[in-house]
Amino acid sequence: MSNSARGVLLVVSSPSGAGKTTLCRRLRAEFSNLTFSVSYTTRTPRPGEVDGRDYHFVDTETFQKMVARDEFAEYAMVHENLYGTAVAAIEEALAAGRDVLFDVDYQGGRMLRQRFGDEVVLVFILPPSLAELARRLRARGTDAPEVIERRLEVAREELRHYHEYDYLVMNDHLERAYDALRSIYVAQRHLRPRLEHLARAILDAHGPASS
Ligand code: ADP
Ligand code: 5GP
Repeated sequence: MSNSARGVLLVVSSPSGAGKTTLCRRLRAEFSNLTFSVSYTTRTPRPGEVDGRDYHFVDTETFQKMVARDEFAEYAMVHENLYGTAVAAIEEALAAGRDVLFDVDYQGGRMLRQRFGDEVVLVFILPPSLAELARRLRARGTDAPEVIERRLEVAREELRHYHEYDYLVMNDHLERAYDALRSIYVAQRHLRPRLEHLARAILDAHGPASS
């Protein structure tokens, strides 16, 4: 991390149904300085999802035009739909001194790490088991049975990428998982390069050091 450290880029990934949307919503609600990176996707909205808040829902042609204009910091095909993170929104948030929260898959996390280096912290949410993941997806009731089956097939593949992450959070108990995610975020905010201007300001206020 450079001396002119910028905000935290917090990436949260998990197999679908492990609880990352629930955990990320809570983090956003608690920390007003944390901007959620609203992804672009070609998937159709689920009941209750709002365009511009949960995702920017676009057609494939619009998405491909954005790819051609190099507007994505990363994009990937996930569950047969395209998902992408716009560069402009990240840069705007960082320029305004804000932190950014990303809900992206392992391909997105990997690309963001390559592009932004150690400004990025990668967190993977683990479900207690694949059986519990299936139960949660069915209980959530937002996806058709065949979509759920497809997501479960992909879950095992996604879980195999846990080793690319800095932190693992087991979501067997929502309060404990939130406490862990929150702690990770707060700790990142306190990394020395992000706060050394505070130490320098104290020293500078007292003139040149005597020893
Ligand atoms: P994701 O964003 O990873 O697909 P969600 O946040 O939508 O997952 O969670 C999937 C479902 O599981 C939701 O109905 C949510 O309320 C529920 N859920 C999340 N965390 C827990 C938990 N610790 N215990 C039981 N149910 C949970
Ligand atoms: P869902 O359709 O359940 O909202 O998301 C499906 C998967 O796509 C999740 O793993 C989610 O993290 C991922 N995803 C959402 N937005 C993006 C994005 O902009 N880029 C990438 N690479 N993955 C994304």
